[in-house]
Amino acid sequence: MPDLVRLHNPALARKLVARVAARANLLAGRLGRRPFLMEVCGTHTAAISRSGIRSLLKETIELRSGPGCPVCVTAVQDLDAVIGLARLPGVTVATFGDLIRVPGSASSLEEERARGAGVRVIYSPTEAVDLARANPGEEVILTGVGFETTTPLVALAITKAKQRRLRNFSVLSLHKQVPPALRTLLSGPEPVADGLLLPGHVCAVTGRRVFDFIASKYGVPAVVTGFEPVDILGAVLILLDLLLRQEPVVVNGYTRVVREDGNPLARELIQACFDYDRALWRGLGPIPDSGLNLRHTYRNYDAALKFPLPTPPVRVREDCRCGDLLMGRIAPPQCPLFAHACTPVHPAGPCMVSTEGACSIYYQLERSC
Ligand code: SF4
Repeated sequence: MPDLVRLHNPALARKLVARVAARANLLAGRLGRRPFLMEVCGTHTAAISRSGIRSLLKETIELRSGPGCPVCVTAVQDLDAVIGLARLPGVTVATFGDLIRVPGSASSLEEERARGAGVRVIYSPTEAVDLARANPGEEVILTGVGFETTTPLVALAITKAKQRRLRNFSVLSLHKQVPPALRTLLSGPEPVADGLLLPGHVCAVTGRRVFDFIASKYGVPAVVTGFEPVDILGAVLILLDLLLRQEPVVVNGYTRVVREDGNPLARELIQACFDYDRALWRGLGPIPDSGLNLRHTYRNYDAALKFPLPTPPVRVREDCRCGDLLMGRIAPPQCPLFAHACTPVHPAGPCMVSTEGACSIYYQLERSC
C-alpha cells in the first residue's frame, strides 16, 4: 500500500519534475549541452511519452529511445524467413500481433494472410501449442520473438508440447538478449548516452548484477526502473545525481520487482530449452551470444531444422532510418519518412508498427499536429 500511495501521488511527481529540471540545468552547465539519457526499453518509451515526461523535460534533458523493442530489432532476413514459412502449404505461423504488419523485403505476414497463407495472431505462446493439438493435420510454427521476458514463456510452451508428444508444433527462435546488445552499443566509436534507463521487466528475469559492466567497463551510469511516472522521474533524478558526482554505477531503482540475481526459475526455464548463439539485430548487426537457439534435446521442435528456411534477396528502403533509431542516433522526427511516407497505416519500418516502436509512439503521442 505505501508503494501505491507513493506511485500515484501527483504532488510527488511535480516535486520530482522540479528537482530533475534543477539537476539537469546544473549538469548542462558543466557539459555545455543538455544531458542525453537513453531509455533502452520500448515500454519505457511509451510510458515516458504517455505521461508527458518527455515534453515536460524537453528543454533540459534529451530522452531518446534505444534497441529495446523486440519486434523492431528483428532483422529483415529473419522476418523474410517467417513470411516464407507462412507460404508453405499445410503450415500455420502463430505470432504475436505486432509482427504481422512489419514490412519484409517483398511483403508482410498480413499481406500473406490476405493471400491465403496460414497466419494466426496469438496472445500467449501456449495458445500455439493448443492450436497444434486441435489441428493435428496442420504444422504450427510459433515465432519466438522477444527478450528475456518472453523467452521463459516460449520455453514453457516447448516443454508442454514435448510432454504432450506433439509432432506438429515447432518454434522459430528469434529470441534475443539485452546485455550483449548494450555491450555492442557501448563499444561503438560514438558515445551512446550520458546515462541509461534499464528495462525493469527484463531485469526482473536477469537481475541487476548482469548489467554492472555498463558502469565498470564503459563508465556509464545506469538505473533499473519501473514504468510508473514516479518510477521514471525517480530514476532520472538518480542518474543525474550520479552524473553530477561523476560516479558511474548501476543502481536498482525498481527494488519492489527486481532482485540482484533476478528470477532463477525463469532463467532455469530458458537454460533448459535454449543455447546461446549469434543473432542478427536490425541496426546493430550480428552480435555473438545475443540469440537463443533450441537445445539438441528439443531439436524436434526447432522450425529452423524441421523446415528449409527461405532466404530471398533482402530489400530494405535505403531512406528508412530504423537502424539509426535503434542505436539511439536519431529521434523519430529526424527520419525523413516520419509521418509522411511512413505512418501507422502505411509503415515503412518496424518502429512505426510495434506498440513498443519509437516511431509509432511518437506519431501517436508526441506530434504537435
Ligand atoms: S519513420 Fe518509418 S522508416 Fe523512419 S525510422 Fe521510423 S519506422 Fe523507420
